[in-house]
Amino acid sequence: MYNQTSTILFMLFIQILFGSVRRCEIVDSNDQSNTISDSDSILTDSIFLNDVETSTVETNFTTNSTTAIATNITKLTTETNAISNEVIWEYWGPRGEQHWQKSFKSCGGKSQSPINIETDRIVYLPDLQLYFINYDRPLYKMRLTNTGHTVKLEASEQTGKRYQWFISGNALFDQTYRFVELHFHWRNAHSAGSEHAINGEKFSMEMHIVHQNLKYERENNSETVFKSSDAFTVIAVFFNENDIHNPAMDPIIEQLANIEEIHNSTIVNEPIRLETLMPKPENWNRFYRYSGSYTTPGCQEVVTWIIFPDPLSIDAKQVNRFRELINHIVHTDHNGKYLSSVKEFIGFYRHIQELGTRRIYAPESMQTSSTISRIMFLNSWIQSFSYILLSIAFHHLFIVY
Ligand SMILES: [Zn+2]
Repeated sequence: MYNQTSTILFMLFIQILFGSVRRCEIVDSNDQSNTISDSDSILTDSIFLNDVETSTVETNFTTNSTTAIATNITKLTTETNAISNEVIWEYWGPRGEQHWQKSFKSCGGKSQSPINIETDRIVYLPDLQLYFINYDRPLYKMRLTNTGHTVKLEASEQTGKRYQWFISGNALFDQTYRFVELHFHWRNAHSAGSEHAINGEKFSMEMHIVHQNLKYERENNSETVFKSSDAFTVIAVFFNENDIHNPAMDPIIEQLANIEEIHNSTIVNEPIRLETLMPKPENWNRFYRYSGSYTTPGCQEVVTWIIFPDPLSIDAKQVNRFRELINHIVHTDHNGKYLSSVKEFIGFYRHIQELGTRRIYAPESMQTSSTISRIMFLNSWIQSFSYILLSIAFHHLFIVY
């Protein structure tokens, strides 16, 4: 009798368990209050802030408060630069990524980026949305810089009073983030240099569009910002090398010859519209979201990552212009010593990190019909199996009595 009652209770437990899985997943998503990214100087938009055109966006900033923010951010930038100048890191050699953790403790954390996205482990959520504000508006006279770790595009002294770019939406927990800069990751010839991977597949290049949470723009303490899990959002866009020329990349690529050496920078004269550097707007509801870190030291775990899975095209001639920069940068170390022995293995990207206990989320609309049918088949199979066991248990119960 005891065994039969236990069997019935066990079966009821199974029913309750499977019935609650979906609710658990949704509840779980609410603790993903993290945000973004990796960049070499994420707090460098003081010029941006001086030029903020408040009338174009729904923010409550006054001119005075904006000036105050700009002052604080400038101070932060100075502090950040001071820190970054103290400890040098590289992607290869004795200061390569396997050694980052010695100088930057967070690089050994449990929520690091980039990761491999396994699409059969995605948690799909209903009504997960992103909003892009002003991404169709051009910005002029952007500054392109060779930082030694990437090529970065940001506002310049000449950018002037222009529209601002923002992202928001419940996918970002209804926080609003301001565009700060964008930069690229790539590898040497004929190899995939993206940081993230999807089902183990890497792409030729990866672009990161870095955004900072508006609510931290008033912060004058970089320590606070870098301990806030919702401080940054980074959008990742993949590029696949093929025969299709990407004209939207030309304004940037045409200037690469002017920044061949580390710390060179130049002004991009042609206007840049962010939406042209992203998948088509009708695909902006196709993204993966997870909580991670900067992919460069100090690897702070303060980034909400938005990964667009649909790669843009870039032709070989274009991507090779980026690869040529490697030859200028990695042939020597900081003492001018020749480093040809590692040339074949390097690129400007970090290797894949463990996902650990984190989950990756996506809008429910991305769930393919095959995925749905597979889950429905599994669910119906589990239910049938449960009912059979339940029937057997009842059968034994009534036979005995
Ligand atoms: Zn990056």
